[in-house]
Amino acid sequence: MPVGASETVGLKGGFGAIAIKSRITATTTFLAHGSCQEAVIMPLLCEQTSAYATLPVRFRSTRKDLQTVQQTFKWGTLLALTAGLMGACSPLPALQPGALTAGVFTAPPDASELSERQPVYRIQVKAGTDIDALSKAGMDIFSVRKGTVEGRMTDAAQAVAKERGLSLTAMRDPFDSRSRGLPAGFMTYQAIVSRLQAIATANPEVATLVDLGPSWQTVQGSANRRILAIRITHGPAAKPKALFTAGHHARELAPPEIAMRLIEELVGGYGKNDALTKLVDTRETWVVPVMNPDGRVDVEGGNDMWRKNRHTFAKSVGVDLNRNYDSHFSGGDTNPNNETYHGQSAFSEPELLGLRDLYAKEKFAVSMDYHAYAGAVIWPPGWDRGNTPDQAAFPKIGQVLTAKNGYDGDTIARRFYLAPGSICDWAYEKFGVMAFGAEMGTSFRPAATELPKLYAENRDGALHLIQIADNPKGR
Ligand SMILES: [Zn+2]
Repeated sequence: MPVGASETVGLKGGFGAIAIKSRITATTTFLAHGSCQEAVIMPLLCEQTSAYATLPVRFRSTRKDLQTVQQTFKWGTLLALTAGLMGACSPLPALQPGALTAGVFTAPPDASELSERQPVYRIQVKAGTDIDALSKAGMDIFSVRKGTVEGRMTDAAQAVAKERGLSLTAMRDPFDSRSRGLPAGFMTYQAIVSRLQAIATANPEVATLVDLGPSWQTVQGSANRRILAIRITHGPAAKPKALFTAGHHARELAPPEIAMRLIEELVGGYGKNDALTKLVDTRETWVVPVMNPDGRVDVEGGNDMWRKNRHTFAKSVGVDLNRNYDSHFSGGDTNPNNETYHGQSAFSEPELLGLRDLYAKEKFAVSMDYHAYAGAVIWPPGWDRGNTPDQAAFPKIGQVLTAKNGYDGDTIARRFYLAPGSICDWAYEKFGVMAFGAEMGTSFRPAATELPKLYAENRDGALHLIQIADNPKGR
């Protein structure tokens, strides 16, 4: 019995003080609303058995606002909730201390849960159109490299592969091979927020924290997560501007870490390293390390392979934020269960609105959007296999970005597959930004010990982009 995300438990008896806020998996989050000081969450039925579990879970809230507690339950656990109220819990005056109410989850299937059961394959493709067809048939593509596609199949994608005579090799499922949640040595979303605040507080001369707005769950009132940008420059004069974004896709763990390392190096190097000091004095660099905080927190909670945001629809969860930009949006993936679902309309997702306005305001010359994994640097167009009017300038810069790290470079559509509605296409088409993407590493979940190497692979390219922001096409 898969359970949907962000679903308020359908409780009888009018007790609404506790709501299930993420799908029931290894870890889930409960939010207590109002001024409850204590409640008990009691799993009753476990999976298909009729046994009653007897493990009440207590949490205490000392504040009169949202509190969260994380506790482990299995799929399909039927919960009973009982609240022992120490104080008023308006607007629920009818509820007595110790009252027991129960709810059965009737939430929609969660796409990620369904896809978890599909096999992961490595496929040799003959042409880019093979990848388009697999993607269209709902294959969750992890990576594309040298004619090899890795990802999770749907039945339809397996049929497409057979039809096209492609060779398939079963792969170890990354979802099974790792411990759930955030591996040791990675920063949580909350740790990233705290670190950004600390950097801005300690370095007001060169670093400013800018709030780009709320996540989807924050808009719904069930979380308090913002998309944060940091602006790095010294002095008030107008300067050429570069933008770095990361974390559109929740399961790609390295990109936010690499964005944080870039911030640390620029801010930490100011006044100590001549080249970095000059970059900060003469350029304005913006970095947004986590574009998709709700998805990221879901991954941290154990939903390791989650890619999209956590927008909950009637029968599905999530929009691929990197398909929701207003560029050839109508050509995007309309199947809400697919990992590349583009959403109901361009810029329907709150996570992108602040960045959209920032692009309009700041007039960036260059940008880089970090992803994982494939070992590639990519540029527009993603919606089509042709070229942009800057078909000479993009590879020229791309060559520098890949010179030292062994990545290869091409347009998004040629290197991967058709991807309408991406940030790169939109930034380039709408504002003329020389917009790049990087697919770093060889895994969604590298060990933390690999992070220095991943940063080293991307660091020189990042500094080069900042450097050429004054005249990217002329260099
Ligand atoms: Zn990605």
